[in-house]
Amino acid sequence: MINQIQAQVDFKILDIKKLDGYDNRNYKLRSDDQSHILKTYPFSDERMALVEAENAALLHLKNGKQAFPKPISFSDGSFTKVLEMEGEKRIIRLLSFLEGTFLGDIASPTPDLYRSLARFLARMNTRLQSFDHSVIKGRAWEWDLQRLGLNKKYISDIPDAHNRNIVRYFFQQFDQKVALVLPELRKSIIHNDANEWNILVADGKISGLIDFGDLAYTPLINELAVALTYACYDKDDPLLWAAPLLEAYHDILPLQKQELDILYYLIAARLCISVCNSAHAKKVDPYNNYATVSENNAWSMLHRWLAINPINARNTFYEAAGFSITPAKPIEESIERRHNVISPILSVSYDRPIHVERSVFQYMYDAHGNTFLDAYNNIPQVGHSHPKVVEAGMQQMAKLNTNTRYHYDLLPEYAERLLAKFPDVLNKVFFVNSGSAASDLAIRMTIAHTGRHHLMVMEHGYHGNTQIGIDISDYKFSNKKGAGQKENILKTPIPNTYRGKYTTDDRKAGKQYAADAIAQVEQYDHPVAAFISEPIVGCGGQVPLAKGYLKQLYPAIRKQGGVCISDEVQTGFGRTGDYFWGFEAQDVVPDMVIIGKPMGNGHPMAAVVTTDEIAESFGKGVEFFSSFGGNPVSCAIGLAVLDVIEEEGLQQKAKTVGDYYQSLLRELQQKYPCIGDVRGSGLFLGVEIVKDGSMQSDTELAHHIKNELRNRHILISTDGPHNSVLKSKPPLCFTKENAKTVVEHINSILEAY
Ligand code: PMP
Repeated sequence: MINQIQAQVDFKILDIKKLDGYDNRNYKLRSDDQSHILKTYPFSDERMALVEAENAALLHLKNGKQAFPKPISFSDGSFTKVLEMEGEKRIIRLLSFLEGTFLGDIASPTPDLYRSLARFLARMNTRLQSFDHSVIKGRAWEWDLQRLGLNKKYISDIPDAHNRNIVRYFFQQFDQKVALVLPELRKSIIHNDANEWNILVADGKISGLIDFGDLAYTPLINELAVALTYACYDKDDPLLWAAPLLEAYHDILPLQKQELDILYYLIAARLCISVCNSAHAKKVDPYNNYATVSENNAWSMLHRWLAINPINARNTFYEAAGFSITPAKPIEESIERRHNVISPILSVSYDRPIHVERSVFQYMYDAHGNTFLDAYNNIPQVGHSHPKVVEAGMQQMAKLNTNTRYHYDLLPEYAERLLAKFPDVLNKVFFVNSGSAASDLAIRMTIAHTGRHHLMVMEHGYHGNTQIGIDISDYKFSNKKGAGQKENILKTPIPNTYRGKYTTDDRKAGKQYAADAIAQVEQYDHPVAAFISEPIVGCGGQVPLAKGYLKQLYPAIRKQGGVCISDEVQTGFGRTGDYFWGFEAQDVVPDMVIIGKPMGNGHPMAAVVTTDEIAESFGKGVEFFSSFGGNPVSCAIGLAVLDVIEEEGLQQKAKTVGDYYQSLLRELQQKYPCIGDVRGSGLFLGVEIVKDGSMQSDTELAHHIKNELRNRHILISTDGPHNSVLKSKPPLCFTKENAKTVVEHINSILEAY
C-alpha cells in the first residue's frame, strides 16, 4: 500500500500507521519534516460528494488563526483520488496532521478549558456562517439533531426496557418542544461533532478541531448542544459545567433566547442519538468497541438529565447568556388564587405546598426549577408521563373516543387482557372512572345479588368519596368531623400485628383476628351482604392484613350468603411485588375486586371485576351505563399500562427494589427507637413513628420528617389514624439508588432532630 500512496505524493513517506476509526480506514503518514493523515473511504458517488464538501469547508477555514486539518493536494493537484485498494475501490484524501493532546486525555479539564473550547467553536461558527454548500445542505442523516426522528428505528435495539422508554420519552418531548420551533431557528453549516476525541489541547487551551465528517446544515445552536453533551456527560453536575461554556460562546457569538429555550431537549436528543446508534452498532456487530466508547457516559448522563428540571436548565442557560429570568409566582399567591375558586376542603400537601409543572418517571418538577424525587405517588404506577402511555392516549384520542353504546374492538381486547390477570372465576368487568365509583358500584351489585343491605367493613378502611363510599369507610365516618357509623354497617377491628389485640406471631394473629371477626358476623342481628377490605389498609397506616386472616374469614362470610370484596385500588397492578393483586398474598379469591388508581397511570380509569353469577344478578336490574367507563382512549391507555408493566418487569422491580428499601428502613429502625414498625410489601411501605421506644404515636415527628424530606426535595407522606405513619409508594421505576437516597435523608433528619 505504501508504494501505491507514494506514487501519488510529492514527499517521501517514511512510515505509515493505521489509526482507530469509527467506520473509516485512516492512516498516519510520516515524511521527513511533517506528518499527514491519509483518510480512505469505500467509493460511492455520494461519499465522494461529501468528502469534497468536507474539503471545501476546510479550505474555507484554512486561512484563519484556528487550527483545522488542511486538505493537502496530491502530486497532480487534486484533493481526492479513487484507488483500487485491497480489492475494492476507495476514495483517498490527505490532510495535515494536527499536534496536541486530545481533550479526552486531559485528566481533569477546568472550566477555563471549556471556556476556551466555547471561544474556539464560536469563532469557527462565525466563519462557517459564510460557508455554503449544496451537498451539505441536502444531507439528511441520523447524526443531525434536527432529524432525530430518523433514529426511531434504532430504539428497539436498546436492550433494557426502561432505558428504551427513557429514550422514547425524550423523542416525544422533542416532537412537542423542539420540532415546531425548528423552522424558526437560524441555520448554518456546523462541525456537528465537537466531542472530546475530536478536540485538541495545547498549553491549557483548545488548539484544534478535527474530523469534519459530520458537517450538517442545521440550527446553529446544535453545535453547542453537541459540545455541551460531551463536555458534561461525565460530570456529576452537568449544568455547572454548561454555564461557563455558554457564557464564553455567547460573548463572541450571541445566542438567542429561543435557542436556549430548547437547548435542554437538544442535549437530550444528542444523548439519545448516541445511545440509539451504539445499540444499533452493537446489534449489528457485537465486537465493535469503537462504536460504543461513549455509550456508558451517554446513558449515565441521560439518567442524570431526567433528574434536572428543564426550567432549571433553561434558567441556567439564560443566566449564562445574561438574559433575565422571570421567576415563578410565590406559592402563597398561587394558593390564594386557587382558594378564590377551589374550596380549601381540597387540601394541599406539606407546610410549604409544591407548585408542580411537569413530571417524568420518578421525578416531579416544580415551577421554580426544583426536582422532587417522588417516593410517594402510587397513581403513576409505571412512571409519570410514561411515553408509551402518553403515546397510546394521544393516538387513540386522535382516532376515536366514544362510549360503550357503540362497539369497538378495544373494549373486549382490553377486558380480556385485564381479566387474564385474575383467577378464572373473576371473568366479568365493569368499567368506571374512579375508585369511588367502583366501590359504589360494587356495593350496588352486592345488594342486587344478595338482596341485603348490611355490610361488614374494615376499621380505618377507605373506599371512596360517594355517599356509599363514605358509608363503608371507617376512615371517613369515624373522623371527628364524620357523620358516624350507619346502622347497616358492621365494623371489624383491623388485623394489625404491630398494635392491637393480637401481636404475637403473624400467622397466629391472623387466625385470632379472623375468629373474632367471624364471631362478630355470627352475633350480628343481620346476615351481611358483603365484607369489604383492602389487603393492605392504606389509610389505616399501610397495615397489611395479618397473614391467613382472609383465608379464614372469607368462607364464613360466604357461608351466611355474603360476598367478599377486595379493594385493590392501591395494592393492584404489581405494586406489592410478590403478587399482581394483594388478595393473592392471602391465598384467597374474592367475589369482587375493585381496581383504580394505577390502572390508567393517572388517566381516570377504574373497574369492578366480578364473577358471572354476580354480573348476572346485577344484569336483571336497571341498565348500567357509564359515559366514560371503558371508552376507547381509556382502553388504549389501560393496554399500554399492562404492556409497560410486562415490558419493564415492574412487578419484579417492585419486589427487588422494595425488599432493598425495606431492608434499609429496618437497619434504620435498629438505630432509632422512634421507628416503631417497618411494614408493607414491594413498593407499598409504611414506617410507624412512635415516641421513643413506646407504642405512642408521634404525629409531630412524622409530620416533621415528611416536611423536612419535602424541603430536601423528596416526596413521601403520612397516614394512619394519628397521621404518624410515613408512607412510601413510589412509581415502580423507582431504583435502589432512589431508595438509598430517601433512607439517607430520613437518617440525617432523625440525627438532627
Ligand atoms: N379505595 C381505596 C383503597 C383508595 O385508596 C381510594 C383512593 N384513595 C379509593 C378507593 C377511591 O378512589 P378514587 O379517589 O379514585 O375515587
